[in-house]
Amino acid sequence: MPAPASVPTDYWHRLEDGRLQCDLCPRFCKLREGQRGLCYVRGREGDTVVLYSYGRSSGFCIDPIEKKPLNHFLPGTPVLSFGTAGCNLACKFCQNWDMSKSREMDTLAAVAMPATLAGEARRTGCRSVAFTYNDPVIFLEYAVDTAQACAELGVKSVAVSAGYISAAPRQRFFHHMDAANIDLKAFSERFYKQICGGHLQAVLDTLCYIKDETSVWLEVTTLLIPGENDSDAELDAMTAWLREHLGTDVPLHFTAFHPDWKMQDKTRTPAASLKRARRIAMGNGLNYVYTGNVRDAEGGSTYCPGCGLRVIERDRYQLGRWQIDSAGLCCGCGTRIAGVFEGPPGHWGAQCQPLRLS
Ligand code: SF4
Repeated sequence: MPAPASVPTDYWHRLEDGRLQCDLCPRFCKLREGQRGLCYVRGREGDTVVLYSYGRSSGFCIDPIEKKPLNHFLPGTPVLSFGTAGCNLACKFCQNWDMSKSREMDTLAAVAMPATLAGEARRTGCRSVAFTYNDPVIFLEYAVDTAQACAELGVKSVAVSAGYISAAPRQRFFHHMDAANIDLKAFSERFYKQICGGHLQAVLDTLCYIKDETSVWLEVTTLLIPGENDSDAELDAMTAWLREHLGTDVPLHFTAFHPDWKMQDKTRTPAASLKRARRIAMGNGLNYVYTGNVRDAEGGSTYCPGCGLRVIERDRYQLGRWQIDSAGLCCGCGTRIAGVFEGPPGHWGAQCQPLRLS
């Protein structure tokens, strides 16, 4: 089935001056006829706001779930990853800018209707589908339909998002997700405003919403950029906030930046900064804190908060020794390990396999 050129969307209203305001995200783009929003995949056509990327993808890959990163959601299993084009933030350091900043619908070469994606995930043995590479909130209608098609086949849905979404669509979007990794880009309004073109509070609201109002499994990622968001004071304030609002069991990933897009003047994140951030977060009482994008056996593994036993050994995306019983309890002391564990871990390993839809 070919992908539609556009589909109508729900979250917009008409302004007194005749423009249509998209209400999907806190940018609230005000659109005249033929105009597109900042995300470029939503725009005005006549008397409605439409989505242009429904059923279109920039490509597919079968990844380890740990690559999303999710360390406590069906560990060791394969996930069918895909994305579209566009983004509703404008991060100067974007590590996926070829897709997120794409204004070419050519990027979206692959047609992938929801039922096809769900069927392909099941055929290839993936336990879940991940909306990733670019932010899925901007293709909400497509993501929700795909998540519903997946649920019918017993395949879970994972959102990898910056959480920059308004309250009403937030409710609809996360109602259909089983797990989410939310990018908390920094803990300062300055960073969000100057470097991402957004606002911190909207993201904090999304984190609290997921934690308080849904059963979605939640993990959080912060990309540490030297000199921008990695001071001791900011990391201390961020992780104290996470503990207070999301609890001690929310997994937190500190990942390493490499110079990209409009931020070529910064250096790569030293491993020592990731380890320092991890120490600060654990000092604030978070139980599961990880370092990512670097080889760090200690910072990549999961430890029991009860007895300190290494319950999941990881070497980057490869699982090693597993010490959690079938009920999700630590084999050393019986403490429950937070997460979604359905029996023994998967054996997908570290491979990332490009996929062509059949
Ligand atoms: S989703 Fe896109 S069009 Fe809508 S407000 Fe956000 S950036 Fe603008």
